[in-house]
Amino acid sequence: MSTLKNIITCKCPNCGVSYVFKDQNPYNLTKLAEMHKRCPNCDKSFEKEPGFYFGAMYVSYAMTSGIVIVFATVFGWGLQMETLPLVGIIALLILSTFPLVFRWSRMIWLSWFI
Ligand SMILES: [Zn+2]
Repeated sequence: MSTLKNIITCKCPNCGVSYVFKDQNPYNLTKLAEMHKRCPNCDKSFEKEPGFYFGAMYVSYAMTSGIVIVFATVFGWGLQMETLPLVGIIALLILSTFPLVFRWSRMIWLSWFI
């Protein structure tokens, strides 16, 4: 349970004390990807190797696909919404949750390897 809490709050997967990202606001897009190289508390490295976070794209893809599948099912199939408004709603949803998905996918990827 603490792993899930650390992922959601973007805290170090090793100690759970310090933040992984330099700016805690994911919607500050200029600092979205700025991360500490090492944990300020326990000194655990957050970058195992160059290009380590390329793998987080797979997690991001899975999360975004999950959002699309859930909302397409609920609104399109369940509520019988027309296709064009449905695509618009899903596009807005993906754009508005992009910073959270970006950070959480990196946190899930990092948690797998720490
Ligand atoms: Zn730590």
